[in-house]
Amino acid sequence: MQAGLFLTERVVAGIKICMNDEPKKYASWRKEMVENQIIARGVNDPLVIHAMMNVPRHEFVSEALVDSSYGDFPLPIGEGQTISQPFIIAEMTQSLELKGNERILEIGTGSGYQAAVLAQIVYRVYTIERNNTLFSQSRRLFDKLKYHNIVTKYSDGTQGWKEESPFDAIMVTAGGQQIPKPLIEQLSEGGKLVMPVGGSFSQELIKLEKTSEGFKTTNLGGCRFVKLIGQHGWEE
Ligand code: SAH
Repeated sequence: MQAGLFLTERVVAGIKICMNDEPKKYASWRKEMVENQIIARGVNDPLVIHAMMNVPRHEFVSEALVDSSYGDFPLPIGEGQTISQPFIIAEMTQSLELKGNERILEIGTGSGYQAAVLAQIVYRVYTIERNNTLFSQSRRLFDKLKYHNIVTKYSDGTQGWKEESPFDAIMVTAGGQQIPKPLIEQLSEGGKLVMPVGGSFSQELIKLEKTSEGFKTTNLGGCRFVKLIGQHGWEE
């Protein structure tokens, strides 16, 4: 009942985003992106599809990159960091099997795009960024786009966010050699975590599920992310 109510609110918020003064071309680029890059490659969770149909990706990149913002590739967001290819965002989001009432932790706010996609789906997003410039930029953007269910923190995300834990789901959008222990501890029982794990150049996308009997991990395939830097990640 509760989850349904949240969903309705978010659908209304999504429509509001579509119906503001945004030029029509963006909605049509988004539709093409979702159809050709996401649905065509097997993503079928309606909540993920709806979210990606609504979040204005072009708002999360610099002006020079607006025309390529719905392309099938990652994009630079400044400070040597990148916003992932739309399909990777969709795949990681789908892997968490979200229902709508979750409190989710994201590590690596970056441009804020992934957090915005999650915010369209779940009850509340807690997101941590260690780079001050990206932290401030994304915070301003969340205000501008009225993502009131995103809570931000400027900190080392490898230590998690203890005061707000446990989380129903955790998504790490930077790669580390292993899953930081504090994040596993801050995941609720029945919760799911997704993170790129491996070397500094390439990683495997690992999904971890915490159950009453222990942990189950699944390898979702190869990927390439920027480094997760911090106490339980790479050294600076
Ligand atoms: N999710 C982002 C993509 C992020 S790129 C988006 O949608 O745009 C990875 C981000 O992780 C970078 O912004 C980088 O500064 C950040 N990062 C790396 N290590 C971190 C840490 N320990 N804590 C928080 N953020 C971190």
